[in-house]
Amino acid sequence: MAEEMYDVTIIGGGPAGMFAAFYCGLHELKAQLIESLPQLGGQVAALYPEKKIWDVAGMPGVSGQELVDCLKQQMKVAPIDQFLNETVEDVIKEDDGTFTIKSAQRVSHSKSIIIALGNGAFTPRKLSLDGADVAEGHQLHYFVNHTADYAGKRVVVLGGGDSAIDVALMLEPVAKEVSLVHRRNEFRGLEHTVTKLKESKVNVLTPYLPKGIKVEDDQSVTMELKKRRSDEVKSLNVDQVIVNFGFTSDNAALNKWSLDLDNERNLIKVDSTMQTSVDGVYAIGDGVTYPGKVALIASAFGEAPAAVTALAKKLYPDKKMAVHSSSMNIG
Ligand SMILES: Cc1cc2nc3c(=O)[nH]c(=O)nc-3n(C[C@H](O)[C@H](O)[C@H](O)COP(=O)(O)OP(=O)(O)OC[C@H]3O[C@@H](n4cnc5c(N)ncnc54)[C@H](O)[C@@H]3O)c2cc1C
Repeated sequence: MAEEMYDVTIIGGGPAGMFAAFYCGLHELKAQLIESLPQLGGQVAALYPEKKIWDVAGMPGVSGQELVDCLKQQMKVAPIDQFLNETVEDVIKEDDGTFTIKSAQRVSHSKSIIIALGNGAFTPRKLSLDGADVAEGHQLHYFVNHTADYAGKRVVVLGGGDSAIDVALMLEPVAKEVSLVHRRNEFRGLEHTVTKLKESKVNVLTPYLPKGIKVEDDQSVTMELKKRRSDEVKSLNVDQVIVNFGFTSDNAALNKWSLDLDNERNLIKVDSTMQTSVDGVYAIGDGVTYPGKVALIASAFGEAPAAVTALAKKLYPDKKMAVHSSSMNIG
């Protein structure tokens, strides 16, 4: 059986990729979106879900997570295929002008590409302790996918940012007990999040550094915690460990894709239709550069329709594109 051929493959599920996904669906293009994290939302969801955003048109003071939830809602209006937890490693241009997209999990095919990878693929900062790799995926996690998995469990969350506090507060009502370990006495979270933490039953342990992790015979985990600037060492036996140390991003894959890049910042050069130096490959969002580029969500929201409209016109020159009114496309 011939392998499926997409009209468009969107690489990256941040605000740029999410809005491009909706716009592809709106124009009934056969599209897929591939995102390296298990969640959509890019920097907004991963780095500042609680922060208020004031400069998205028509949404003053929306929180990062609210904006991502609205984008997800919008994507449901005209859905396309989504593949989360998958990092695109290679994009190969075939002789017939189509593209082969490779990730560790899959090979797929597409007539055009929209690169929306921001600063690159996000990966969580790992807990660098002997034994952490043994526990990973069993007793140690970098994301909470389902709070129900933690019902009745003893959980420790490691980290001191908004997202670590959010995870601790989210699990507190379902878990048997939740501890939050941070290396400083002060948390980096927003004031109201920190206030909620103080009012909660979360067992806050500061300033402690994780120094050891051991999976016990009964499958529980013992964390060894050392108090900073002190000899005090504490053992904490729990069922589950959640590490929330933030993310690193890596866009080294771009160098293999034969694109014209701004060498200083590894940004992709595009024209006014978001077309890159490779025919059929478009790029939008924080990862691109052009005269006057501003790396903001609002800019990405403008670039997505420009790219989708340009590539759709090229793929289907006879197709009538309703660029002035979305109501013509949504029933
Ligand atoms: C602290 C902070 C505050 C900010 N505040 C604001 C603000 O108030 N207003 C504003 O407009 N902007 C703000 N920004 C900037 C804004 O977040 C970015 O402009 C926006 O996120 C860019 O969206 P994007 O989709 O281009 O990239 P990203 O949000 O970076 O998303 C890119 C996605 O692509 C994925 N990806 C990358 N490589 C691959 C690959 N090879 N395979 C699969 N997936 C891949 C990544 O995992 C990521 O999810 C802020 C940024 C930060 C860090």
